[in-house]
Amino acid sequence: MKKHNFNSGPSILPAPVIEQAAAALHDFNGIGLSILEIGHRTEWFIAVIEEAKALVKQLMQLNDDYEVLFLHGGATTQFMQIPMNFLTPNDTAAYCDNGIWGSKAIQEAGFFGNVHIAASSKDKNHTYIPKNLSLPNNAKYLHITTNNTVEGTQWHSLPETNLPLVADMSSDIFSKPMPFNHCSLIYAGAQKNMGAAGVTLVVIKKDWAASIQKPVPPIMHYQKHIEAKSLLNTPPVFAIYVALLTLRWIVAEGGLTEMEKRSKQKAALLYHTIDSLPIFTSYVAKEDRSLMNAVFFMKDENLLSSFLQTCTENGMVGVKGYRTVGGIRVSMYNALPLESVQAFCELAQYFAQKHG
Ligand code: PMP
Repeated sequence: MKKHNFNSGPSILPAPVIEQAAAALHDFNGIGLSILEIGHRTEWFIAVIEEAKALVKQLMQLNDDYEVLFLHGGATTQFMQIPMNFLTPNDTAAYCDNGIWGSKAIQEAGFFGNVHIAASSKDKNHTYIPKNLSLPNNAKYLHITTNNTVEGTQWHSLPETNLPLVADMSSDIFSKPMPFNHCSLIYAGAQKNMGAAGVTLVVIKKDWAASIQKPVPPIMHYQKHIEAKSLLNTPPVFAIYVALLTLRWIVAEGGLTEMEKRSKQKAALLYHTIDSLPIFTSYVAKEDRSLMNAVFFMKDENLLSSFLQTCTENGMVGVKGYRTVGGIRVSMYNALPLESVQAFCELAQYFAQKHG
């Protein structure tokens, strides 16, 4: 029986995507070769990557000022690659310190230049989004994490700034329409809303990439990747193919407006249930709650292992909170059906009755 998959990433993918990816492992598009066996410079793969790029731009409503890249190394490599391209030792970049992933990005930037903390929610364990930013005029860019996967907070609108805006959208990419054109660089590991692990989406404003002056090794250089159309070296062919299938699925289901509608419905049910059951508590500021990752705790911590055990027995995976945070985390990415959230809420109610 298929499990209810609340994993935080890699996470649930749409069933048709899994089926089509499985079929392509045996025979890609009826060509008599597996997707794993075709060269990345063949017409077959060029068609895959070009369609994937076009769908990214279509979903983000971006024009040709932007380039779509599919790179290696996960979002973590972007923590390093961005300052490596855009910061020299005398430069400053502004960062929002809103969660564990943003903090890691800040550490990496420190290897290349100065970091100005535009806002921090560290005082309350990253349980809210601080919206008043202090931004030095000379900063090279402002970096934010749009959804804090670990802490369960989310920027519900992008901050206003004249600086080039850099956004780590790893855990809410393609979950809702956003003014993507307010960003100069968007990046996301694919393994949540966009496909399988192994490929990182980078969407970059071409004129910003063209402005890079400092010496950067070619494999880390955005401009070189743009010139090579994401084929500077062998790209993760299969992961890009799964991303294409996932992008096609998003479009076929009704695009980002529909994804947002579904997310709101799932999150409303989940948060309503948690708020109404006295065995649970949540420290996240209500207005900043993430529609993707709900993070909450048992009031009586001694009940946690029994609750997690009950989830496992009922075919639910991935609900254990992040290792440094503890508690419970329910991830509700695009592919998670409402029925899974309903099943979780019923189980939570049953458990609360038994232990309340
Ligand atoms: N940023 C965010 C918001 C994340 O959730 C994660 C991983 N879960 C990362 C960055 C790191 O991504 P990766 O493992 O692809 O390097």
